[in-house]
Amino acid sequence: MSVFDAPVLYDVVIVGAGPAGAACALALRHSGLRVALLDKGQFPRDKICGDAIPSPTLKHLARLSPAYTAELYELLALHRADTTYSRLLAPNGHELRIKWHNPAFNSARLHFDTALLTLVRRHTTTEVLENYTVRSLQSDALGVTLVPALSAQAPLQAALVIGCDGANSVVARHLLPSAGLDRAHHCAAVRAYYRGVAEAPEHTSDFYFLREYQAGYCWVFPVGNGVYNVGFGALSREVAARRLDLKHELRELLATHPHLAPRFAEAEALTPITGFGLPLGGSGRAVHGARLLLCGDAAALIDPLQGHGIDKAVHSGILAAVQAQRCFQAQRFDADYLAHYAQEVERLIGRELTQRYRLMRFLAGKAWLVNLAVRAARWPWLRRKLVRAVG
Ligand SMILES: Cc1cc2nc3c(=O)[nH]c(=O)nc-3n(C[C@H](O)[C@H](O)[C@H](O)COP(=O)(O)OP(=O)(O)OC[C@H]3O[C@@H](n4cnc5c(N)ncnc54)[C@H](O)[C@@H]3O)c2cc1C
Repeated sequence: MSVFDAPVLYDVVIVGAGPAGAACALALRHSGLRVALLDKGQFPRDKICGDAIPSPTLKHLARLSPAYTAELYELLALHRADTTYSRLLAPNGHELRIKWHNPAFNSARLHFDTALLTLVRRHTTTEVLENYTVRSLQSDALGVTLVPALSAQAPLQAALVIGCDGANSVVARHLLPSAGLDRAHHCAAVRAYYRGVAEAPEHTSDFYFLREYQAGYCWVFPVGNGVYNVGFGALSREVAARRLDLKHELRELLATHPHLAPRFAEAEALTPITGFGLPLGGSGRAVHGARLLLCGDAAALIDPLQGHGIDKAVHSGILAAVQAQRCFQAQRFDADYLAHYAQEVERLIGRELTQRYRLMRFLAGKAWLVNLAVRAARWPWLRRKLVRAVG
């Protein structure tokens, strides 16, 4: 018998220390609960992403404490690019420059997620366990037992498990064992880092909308120190139907697209092109069960229009922390009681994502409409409307 046969007991175990998990741990800082935050990776760790940190992320963190955003800026002083402008390039080559008023920045997730975890370590008593991969979960009357992939590690037991373990969530699979991949609510995307990208205006993130693809776009985002995160994503249904090889498509775009090719003629690839999935919001996926809550990508909360999910991950992580405290106060962990979280997620995040999913599907395949919108946005009041719709 191993000394680890008896599980280590916690009130709350948060699985996954990305933005959702870190925000949840921060929001539980005054709860008095025994909290573990575990991750299969060791930080700093990479996460395939466009690295654009949407401005609501900072707003949600500032609501927890204004000091957190100030510290985040300080921790990322050498590893971020503040972004004031977006440049949208329509399929016909016309461009629209949008100035944003709320602060936002791009930062490689290698650094951003590590900075968030630093805040957790500084400001909470959370036990952070790295290199801990959850293989499966088992529920019984006493709580949920998390079984590690490595037999040398101890299992953990919690009254409540918060699944913040991303797009391929093991916690979500435990909750919904029969759910398959819903390709109509899922994007596939690839990215690589480049240096030496030409014609790159300062503080500007570029979005290229392409006639050949129904939904999705190509992006060129500065992340600081002359490095660019360059990627391409499309709806998984289209990727499967057309048997697209996204790595090949991105290489082709950078070599042949009339606006991109001159920009990348002298650019140097710093990393291979790698891909990952984006579970889009608006799918109505379950986000709770007895003793279980899901947040962020595990709850499929990515904005279908922009592909952004970091802000929703942080927001849902904070909402889960509020629900966790309610559960311990009432000593109730049944699915009926936890449904309150699902209602809050739907009210504050899900409804908007459903609308944006409809807008994304409406625009898909209508390159002429995107051309028209970019052209019409020359008029300030139409521009304001467009910015409100996509922003
Ligand atoms: C190519 C691409 C580009 C994107 N671009 C943007 C962008 O520019 N801006 C934006 O806002 N969003 C973007 N997104 C979406 C964004 O990456 C996610 O929405 C965001 O990372 C969700 O955060 P999260 O905390 O829910 O999950 P994640 O960031 O995925 O974190 C999950 C954590 O769980 C850990 N984990 C997973 N499984 C286990 C396990 N079994 N045991 C223990 N730990 C586990 C992982 O190691 C990871 O650290 C992009 C996504 C992709 C794929």
